[in-house]
Amino acid sequence: MTPSPITIFRARRILTMNPARPEATHVAVREGRILGAGPLEELAGWGTYTLDDTFADKVLMPGFVEGHSHAAEGTFWRYTYLGRFDRMDPEGKVWPGAQSIEDVVTRLQEAERQLGSPTESLAGWGLDPIYYGDRRVVRADFDRVSTTRAVGVMHASGHIFNVNTRALELAGLLRPGVNHPGIPLGADGLPTGELKGPEAMTIVGAHVGFDREALANDEAGLRRFAKLCVRQGVTTATDLANLLPDDAVSMMARVTGEAGFPVRIVSFRRFQALTPEQVVDMAVKLKTKSTDRLRLGAIKLFVDGSIQGFSARLRWPGYYNGAPNGLWYTPPEAITGVYKLALEKGVLVHSHTNGDQATEMALDCLEGALLDQPARDHRFTLQHCQLADAAQFRRMARLGMCANLFPNHHFYWGDQHYETTVGPERAMRMNACATALASGVPLAIHSDAPVTPLGPLFTAWGAVNRRTASGRVLGTTECISVADALRTITLGAAWTLKLDGEVGSIECGKRADFAVLEDDPLEIAPETLKDVRIWGTVQGGRPFPANGA
Ligand SMILES: [Zn+2]
Repeated sequence: MTPSPITIFRARRILTMNPARPEATHVAVREGRILGAGPLEELAGWGTYTLDDTFADKVLMPGFVEGHSHAAEGTFWRYTYLGRFDRMDPEGKVWPGAQSIEDVVTRLQEAERQLGSPTESLAGWGLDPIYYGDRRVVRADFDRVSTTRAVGVMHASGHIFNVNTRALELAGLLRPGVNHPGIPLGADGLPTGELKGPEAMTIVGAHVGFDREALANDEAGLRRFAKLCVRQGVTTATDLANLLPDDAVSMMARVTGEAGFPVRIVSFRRFQALTPEQVVDMAVKLKTKSTDRLRLGAIKLFVDGSIQGFSARLRWPGYYNGAPNGLWYTPPEAITGVYKLALEKGVLVHSHTNGDQATEMALDCLEGALLDQPARDHRFTLQHCQLADAAQFRRMARLGMCANLFPNHHFYWGDQHYETTVGPERAMRMNACATALASGVPLAIHSDAPVTPLGPLFTAWGAVNRRTASGRVLGTTECISVADALRTITLGAAWTLKLDGEVGSIECGKRADFAVLEDDPLEIAPETLKDVRIWGTVQGGRPFPANGA
């Protein structure tokens, strides 16, 4: 039998993340996996090979692993972009940021004029009123866009939704006496048009084109998401809170299985509208449907909301501006129930906690579950975990938990955290990467795309520099080195997904997944890490240029 062909890629420099051989010039690939990284003479020992010079002037790193993103980023580009900052779409076009609520309304009015039937709904995404002063967005704002069609706009956080009067009417909510913690009422006793948390959002979502179940099954969106991954050097990306109905799973298996699909997708089943028994059973069954490029069988649960939306749960003394405390998304009995069963069945659970009270709750629940169901190497991960203090990191280390922190917040909301949400002192310790590492907590960092744009090098820049949009530096003692930051977006994230044996470094036996860079992240000034130019990726040995066909 003739052995499969070997390709040896020559590069300017290969940063392997393998401590036994941190740098190399060549990497040999066979059957989509790495035979070795080293000098050509050494790799030639594997047998006849083809030398590929495509990357001779480029820098290779392990393909980036985005440990917290959502394939919905691909879907959202079908709606009107209303975010505060300029943003690149999957085709490479940059959409300008909206500078005011007036700007947001104007853009929706423009989009409205493109629609046909007067009852067709209109949706937008990326809204973030915190940039526009104290005023909340209300239904009257979007009544200026239309009174005949439902208009709905998802906030950047993904945790709040604003709609117009028509949308409330269609959802049966335009009446007095609505009594729901996620549905604030105006002076007239009617809902203001703001819907907080998954329950309230789901009631209205379907009427404005944000039907979560349908979003889960968006084939075009998944393809757009994959394009964004290639642009950012990502070869393994999480889709962290999918409901994973059967038809979505078949679609994802089919699309990711295509010869030209460039990303390994790790999709977590969101814990919602099921009992702990049901969700863990479902995860166990989903695991058997995993393929090389579609990994299933893990669970994501939400403990609270978002800090900038004031729906996160904070410990005393709460929000700096005096806003009331946020929302609990999942009751503690259910969290403990999921943890216990998942530990028993070997199912991985990642939990969203933003506020430190939510983090404390997750720690209490896991500590209780571990008493009943001791487990080694569970790698349960707190996602965001933005306000955790040193004591909480020490407790996480003791319980065997990982943290996936969110340094993109420093740039996107750091000024708002400093001035409004948590105040100067706590803003300095948000996303405490250095404390996490010093405490021995396995660390990943993330974008939470579409909450902020997918881009591990930007996220790494955030962890290294902690710079806000206005140029403040939030907490220099929590800055980490470029080398540590690069580790968090490769092996660090792979560890939290239990994939570190397969991806995250360039060494013998692992998948041939590379990020192909024009600039060397270890040679440039750390302040410019976010500006490293990306050629594209290699996934499973197959090259994918970002600007290719
Ligand atoms: Zn998320």
